[in-house]
Amino acid sequence: MSSYVSALDLFSIGIGPSSSHTVGPMRAARAFAAELVDGSHESPAARIAVVLCGSLGATGIGHGTPDAVVAGLRGLDPETCDPDDVPGGWAGLGDGTPVRLTGRTGTLDLTVATADVRLAPLTRLPGHPNGMRFTATDGAGVTVLERVYYSVGGGFVLSETELAQAEAAEAALVAAERGGPGAPAAATVPDDVPYPLVDAAGLLEACAATGLGIAEVAWANETALRPEAEVRAGLDAIWATMSACVDDGLRRTGTLPGRLNVRRRARAQGERLEALDAAGGETTIEWLQAYAMAVNEENADGRRVVTAPTNGAAGIIPAVGRHYLRTHPELAGDDPATAEERRRTMRVYLLTAAAIGALYKRNASISGAEAGCQGEVGSACSMAAGAVCALLGGTPAQVENAAEIAMEHNLGLTCDPVGGLVQVPCIERNAIAACTAVSAARMAMQGDGSHVVSLDTVIETMRQTGADMSTKYKETSEGGLAVNVIEC
Ligand code: SF4
Repeated sequence: MSSYVSALDLFSIGIGPSSSHTVGPMRAARAFAAELVDGSHESPAARIAVVLCGSLGATGIGHGTPDAVVAGLRGLDPETCDPDDVPGGWAGLGDGTPVRLTGRTGTLDLTVATADVRLAPLTRLPGHPNGMRFTATDGAGVTVLERVYYSVGGGFVLSETELAQAEAAEAALVAAERGGPGAPAAATVPDDVPYPLVDAAGLLEACAATGLGIAEVAWANETALRPEAEVRAGLDAIWATMSACVDDGLRRTGTLPGRLNVRRRARAQGERLEALDAAGGETTIEWLQAYAMAVNEENADGRRVVTAPTNGAAGIIPAVGRHYLRTHPELAGDDPATAEERRRTMRVYLLTAAAIGALYKRNASISGAEAGCQGEVGSACSMAAGAVCALLGGTPAQVENAAEIAMEHNLGLTCDPVGGLVQVPCIERNAIAACTAVSAARMAMQGDGSHVVSLDTVIETMRQTGADMSTKYKETSEGGLAVNVIEC
């Protein structure tokens, strides 16, 4: 068991608009369908009921959660599915439609109705605000299989049992770190990576002791878990998907789904900026914003995106990475040496961002339903700040400083998506956070890495602030802009 969160898990290729409300529920439904199909049960399943609880029930419609559940039951995988195959699946069930559930060993045909997938915003399951209950019953109404899953942020899904195991393992690690009577020795807590990355202080200690950079420490961990070629290919695929998402968002026009009728803006902004560039104007920050909006418009449209570390915050890391490449023309070009140097650069960028993101996931939260938007956009901003600081030549201490500055000024940020859609304020918020990330990195590069508030302190402050935050500011659309914007 590892306390380390791999970059290849933290950055997962999927579809929009939400990692916790779309990707996670699709994965949960897919896992349930596979278990139902592949398992041996006393009587055959005749009916399925799915209850989407808490935050999933509150904003599930706007986030496409019921559609994602139906797609998952059908066996669609968020990484490989055609995004066009997901929307409309739930409403299309009507009073009952045959659905082919897919397992590893075969398929099972059941009739599922729209009413079989139910939203229950006032029901909160004990493990996490994003809980789902899947129940299969036989013809007599007797339960054949029942599972509870939690979508814990960033597309990660845990069953009830896995959540309990994860909490027990985490408690053992914390007890080992703190010591004291009865606590296991840290060395007895198993880990399968050389640098478990429990906190930022430990990360900096590892860098100081080895002379490695943060990306090199992360690389050592990644290659302890997977073969080198697989890690390299995985990181390259993640950056290629992020970059393609920027390009797709700068190309597409139209109006985003949902009753807000939000028009896409990235393409028009890109065209204006190209004209300004041609006239010799200064457009650097505007391009950075356009990149972020392009990704978040793709996400809001349910297109292919990379969770980074969530879908709502998916624009920040790609935008800051593209901004770095745009301002380093020596990395442009398709000759093999330049292309390889560009890939190598973006591996450093992603590994550094993931090492920082893993600290947020482990010690606070990357879930808007748990910590508000500080957990999503704040974490992404911090990851991007540290990662681009590393590319600018920052020492590990400067990288840690950049990540800390970026989160410090996102503390308290609430999640209040208007209409339950990942559009307002999410799209612009990513653009602004991308600018904050670059500013934080530049500020950190002006110092020597020494500073008053540590990254660990700001992560713990984010956790406490999230715990104190009213539920209405945690992806429920019951507070903030979500109740003060008049929807026409
Ligand atoms: S407000 Fe922030 S946390 Fe909430 S849905 Fe939008 S991006 Fe995600």
